[in-house]
Amino acid sequence: MTNNQPATSGPSLLTPLLNPTQIEQAMALIMPAQRIALLAHEHPDGDCLGSALGFAQILRQLGKICVPACADPAPRAFSFLPGIETLQTTLGDENFDLVIALDAGELSRYGALYEQHREFLDHATIVNIDHHISSSGCGQVNIIEPEAASTTELLVLFQQQSGLPLGKEAALCLLTGLITDTGSFQYPSTTARTMEAGAILVAAGADAETIVKPIFRTRPLAQARLTALAVQQAQTSSDGRIIWTYATRETLTTTGATADMDDAIVGTLRDIENVQVSAFFKCYDNPETTRVSLRSNTPYNVAAVCMRLGGGGHPRAAGATIHKPLQETIALVIAEIQKEMQAEDQTSHNNTALL
Ligand code: 5GP
Ligand code: MN
Repeated sequence: MTNNQPATSGPSLLTPLLNPTQIEQAMALIMPAQRIALLAHEHPDGDCLGSALGFAQILRQLGKICVPACADPAPRAFSFLPGIETLQTTLGDENFDLVIALDAGELSRYGALYEQHREFLDHATIVNIDHHISSSGCGQVNIIEPEAASTTELLVLFQQQSGLPLGKEAALCLLTGLITDTGSFQYPSTTARTMEAGAILVAAGADAETIVKPIFRTRPLAQARLTALAVQQAQTSSDGRIIWTYATRETLTTTGATADMDDAIVGTLRDIENVQVSAFFKCYDNPETTRVSLRSNTPYNVAAVCMRLGGGGHPRAAGATIHKPLQETIALVIAEIQKEMQAEDQTSHNNTALL
């Protein structure tokens, strides 16, 4: 256990620590690099943005030139993030010694950024840090731990174990990933280590309310109307154990909402009484492509459903992009969810019978 101790002294609940060999391998690529691109996945959320911006702040303190990048601009609710104005939607002249890919383990998940810079990224030196169970790893060094509640939790471990500096701005970015991916420490992915990572960030000067207020409390009236209309239009099957709804360009126009205001809908549906799996379908601009977001309650595994459809995610939160029109996608996905639930119910039934 001697090489498993954190760089800081004193008792720590930061266990399990990251594999020290992997930290050494990542640091061996980071230290000589001068210009570093930090990639957040497409359709960005608090974790990929907090990871890219937070790690960029940390590495800038070492004198590195850091360019955080994401295929899509950040939703407005994240404008409080320090350094958000440095987020780019392209990699420009591709003059980078190192790429750090955050919160997704396949280059395709970086969307248009990968399409624009495919040649460069296919040959770049990449450190990949992620916590998705479906990730295969897209780097020379892949720090992938599905037990971590967020990618920023892994970055706190990385920072602590490697002795990198942690300023107040970086801490706020990293805490954003922890708070958004755990629903403010409510989801079962929250462990003692998650809390400890949060404590380190708060001690470094991050203020939780700065994050929670714009993300979970304040919302535009148009967004409240969009959620209300989506809930109003929801349909159920399997005695209300499955619930789904959808939004189209027309839904946005009717409510005055914009596409980035649809995040809360699928979670709102999951929390309805008796619901086991919720689905939100959206089809805004291309009638041949539909995106689906799934959420579930224990023990139903929606990552399994999405992986069969070419997507991925976590057991309780997953998504996929399906190249079919809206109604066809709904029929396909609901049938897959029903299959998954029947298989799960059969397994638990058999397990109970064995007891
Ligand atoms: P959301 O429903 O919020 O878009 O995504 C839920 C979770 O599933 C997130 O952790 C997200 O990264 C992951 N996810 C969403 N869509 C995809 C996808 O198309 N492919 C993969 N691999 N993961 C996805
Ligand atoms: Mn994440």
